[in-house]
Amino acid sequence: MATTQKPRRVGMYENVKNQFEKAAAVMGLDESVRKILSITNNEIVVHFPVKMDNGQVEVFTGYRVQHNNALGPYKGGLRYHPTVDIDAARALATWMTWKTSLAGLPYGGGKGGIQLDPKKYSQGELERITRRFTYALGDNIGPEHDIPAPDVNTNAQMMAWIADTYMSTKSPSERSKNQHVVTGKPVGSGGLEGRDRATGFGVVVTLESWAKLNGTSLEGKKYIVQGFGNVGYWAAHFMHKNGAILIGVQDATGTIYNPEGIDPEALLRYQSDNATITGYKGTQDYPSEDFFGIDCDVIIPAALGNQITEDNANTVKAKVVAEGANGPIDTEGEAILLANGVQMIPDILCNSGGVIGSYFEWLQNRNGEIWTMDDVIVKLRKKLEDAFNKVINTSVQYQTDWRTAAYIQALTRIEMAYKQRGIFP
Ligand code: GLU
Repeated sequence: MATTQKPRRVGMYENVKNQFEKAAAVMGLDESVRKILSITNNEIVVHFPVKMDNGQVEVFTGYRVQHNNALGPYKGGLRYHPTVDIDAARALATWMTWKTSLAGLPYGGGKGGIQLDPKKYSQGELERITRRFTYALGDNIGPEHDIPAPDVNTNAQMMAWIADTYMSTKSPSERSKNQHVVTGKPVGSGGLEGRDRATGFGVVVTLESWAKLNGTSLEGKKYIVQGFGNVGYWAAHFMHKNGAILIGVQDATGTIYNPEGIDPEALLRYQSDNATITGYKGTQDYPSEDFFGIDCDVIIPAALGNQITEDNANTVKAKVVAEGANGPIDTEGEAILLANGVQMIPDILCNSGGVIGSYFEWLQNRNGEIWTMDDVIVKLRKKLEDAFNKVINTSVQYQTDWRTAAYIQALTRIEMAYKQRGIFP
């Protein structure tokens, strides 16, 4: 999954810092804790060679940033995309710390990836790249230390390669104890039923809560989705079940529009047959730069960061933006949306279904259990609804916006852990 991205004015990490500083000021965060959380704990950069199909060697750069582990092992995805760099990894790792804390999980935050365009490599090359990256990371990851998962352009197959490679580096008697080094694996290789849809499902659960809060429902609501990968597709799938109408989709291959509605299932089949969304029956091509200005009720950005900015925020007509992606709205874009009364379900809440699903998978592996789809869906919904309600209550208590409220919730938990434990030595 990828999308058209405008040149970035500021790095993503700057956006996270702005969000963090705002919340720290509103809640009066402890000064020592503020200092600790203002910087990442560890930043691992690896360069590793891989033999390509043509016999030539290519050297890749991979990242794993570990932001904070006050609440538990570092947790977060691995992204394969040309925009992956140290700034992006820092930002995404930091968001994971807030996300896992807000969800009430026993995790910290980490994130990483490789700067590459996976479309340019064969399946065999991607396997060798993934395995060699895992080997290069070595014990910087680990089932009780730092647990990767899928993110943009990475999938269950890649997680299986990571698990297999990591486990192969352990002595035979230790191998099976390490299956939970990575989550998002295929069902059958330790993966969790429903982990594939967990993020998109979670996005829609938060939108259902939003609708309820506003005394309405999602039935008949018109919405647009940016990104039609794992998050975008599953979000559309569950929006469809709620009777909402998909009228526009944008991804790296183009932008399509049909005010009468687009069937997400049929679009998924079309995309898999044609490797593009453009040309899908009944839709017209739409100018990509006008996408977020489409007249609709709900926008679901489910691709990359920094998509709604001062360039297009004023064109937004939707009532709510549900952040399926991490950091899709930059600082200036957010100020404009707030001034215009557009509600935002912040990423650290909206897309947290993915990491909550990962937590269930990790527990399943660790405890030698097999969970059913029903277990997963019921528990996921409960955690998301609880988190949503906490954010709304905090926003009322502090008279602040939902993102800042979500941060306050997340930061309060981390602050308490530091206060209880103190600082070594
Ligand atoms: N990549 C997802 C995220 O950004 C999931 C992370 C995980 O499951 O660890 O939240």
